[in-house]
Amino acid sequence: MIHRHVWPDPAPVCLLCCRSLMRRFFQQERWWVAIYIAAVLSPLALVLITPSPPSRGFLVEFAMGLGFVGLAMLGLQFALTARFRSIGGRLGLDTMLQFHRQAGIIAALFVFGHVVVALASEPAYFVFLDPRDNFARAGALSLVIVLIPLLLVLTFYRERIGLPYEWWRLSHGIIGALILVIGLAHVIRVDYLIGTPAKRAVIGVLVVGAIALLIHTRLVRPWLARRRPWRVADVRRETPRIWTLTLQSDSEHGLRFLPGQCVWLTIDESPFSFQQHPFTISSTAAESIQSPPVRTFEVTIKELGDFTRQIGKVKPGSRAFVEGPYGTSVMDPEAKSPAVFIVGGIGVTPAICMLRTLRDLQRQRPLLLLYATRTVDGAAFENELACMKNEMDLNVVRLVEEPPDGWTGESGRFSAEILERVVKPPFDRDDTQYFICGPDSMMDLAELTLRDRGVSAVQIHSERFQIV
Ligand SMILES: Cc1cc2nc3c(=O)[nH]c(=O)nc-3n(C[C@H](O)[C@H](O)[C@H](O)COP(=O)(O)OP(=O)(O)OC[C@H]3O[C@@H](n4cnc5c(N)ncnc54)[C@H](O)[C@@H]3O)c2cc1C
Repeated sequence: MIHRHVWPDPAPVCLLCCRSLMRRFFQQERWWVAIYIAAVLSPLALVLITPSPPSRGFLVEFAMGLGFVGLAMLGLQFALTARFRSIGGRLGLDTMLQFHRQAGIIAALFVFGHVVVALASEPAYFVFLDPRDNFARAGALSLVIVLIPLLLVLTFYRERIGLPYEWWRLSHGIIGALILVIGLAHVIRVDYLIGTPAKRAVIGVLVVGAIALLIHTRLVRPWLARRRPWRVADVRRETPRIWTLTLQSDSEHGLRFLPGQCVWLTIDESPFSFQQHPFTISSTAAESIQSPPVRTFEVTIKELGDFTRQIGKVKPGSRAFVEGPYGTSVMDPEAKSPAVFIVGGIGVTPAICMLRTLRDLQRQRPLLLLYATRTVDGAAFENELACMKNEMDLNVVRLVEEPPDGWTGESGRFSAEILERVVKPPFDRDDTQYFICGPDSMMDLAELTLRDRGVSAVQIHSERFQIV
């Protein structure tokens, strides 16, 4: 987890982070929410509006309804994480993944509700779990009852259990697919509510859709990436634990991105590998805006875990694969309104990309960078930021949590008071744009403080690095 050591108190942080992300999602994306709810309810609606066998009593039918909704939600979980740029590019990866997380819990409750209500209302259904009646069926359904809590435990306690992220990602996909396949097989085998050819056809389309999605994300997309290889052209150290990698396209294809967007990067591995990590583009987007596509860009990476701790050892010339760009927390370089960047630690990467873009495009507007780090030498791009102050209307406020003796700048942890102190005229205008990126607790506090000050949600652009 990013910077948990610097910004402790993870439980409330997580709740706040979910709440603010979900609030943004429900406020700004009502259409997507409506489409999602329609998709979740569509199998149930189909059963209800077409001729069905006689009712088996309210509780039994209610249990079946829970099962249909739970299964539809489980199926849609794959679409939510498939990183379709048309959806993810609009909603933001962090929002999509947070939604995936919440929906997963609700889907699990629906499936468990289905089991409990069905067994409680009609004990004859215990036969489904009786190996003497049908060994394969009992085994598969019992497996689902075990796999669903396992999926949740591995997700929420992954770090405590010590499961590496990549192993978690692989097991999460396999367990999720297994639950879905068994669930669909259960619906098809029971055959009570889907007995007509039309209903079977719809279920068939859903099954084929889910398989196509899996084939697209795990096979077609990596295969396409193979035809567009990149190369690590340079690796340079920014601070003791932060590195910048220059990526160069090895094909005629390049990248079109906006300031603030990220890519998923695979280095020295097959594009089919699970070692794929998201990083914000830190180099200027000026060329990408003026004469796209670009064939060179940079990412700046902080050593944190298994993959990033090896980043300084990557050899120039190493093969890389780039997927993207993604991300909705982007800046319009033509806007004239003031921009305030509230960043912590490696969360400076979107801000530096935006500042470099404005500098290179020679766009002037009032700019304020509030840059928090634990130690003084934890800050990257210090010299460049100092130069930028002369080239642009830029004010940089450094906040150091553990300052050295003689430090005269802001010190301590990020707080509402510091924000109040530094965001003063001309930055307190109604059209000021705020770009926030850093540890979750800092982002939550910044978002809440700004909202309390009357800043509207559309003025706040947040990018969360901690998404799982
Ligand atoms: C949109 C976005 C932009 C990011 N931009 C930057 C950046 O510019 N610079 C930077 O240094 N870091 C950035 N990160 C964070 C970076 O992706 C993680 O630090 C990195 O993946 C950690 O991998 P690891 O194996 O070294 O660490 P691990 O110890 O395996 O993981 C540390 C934490 O990072 C997250 N993580 C790990 N692997 C992945 C993955 N494949 N996909 C998603 N999350 C993962 C998990 O929350 C995990 O708990 C960004 C993350 C996101 C979501």
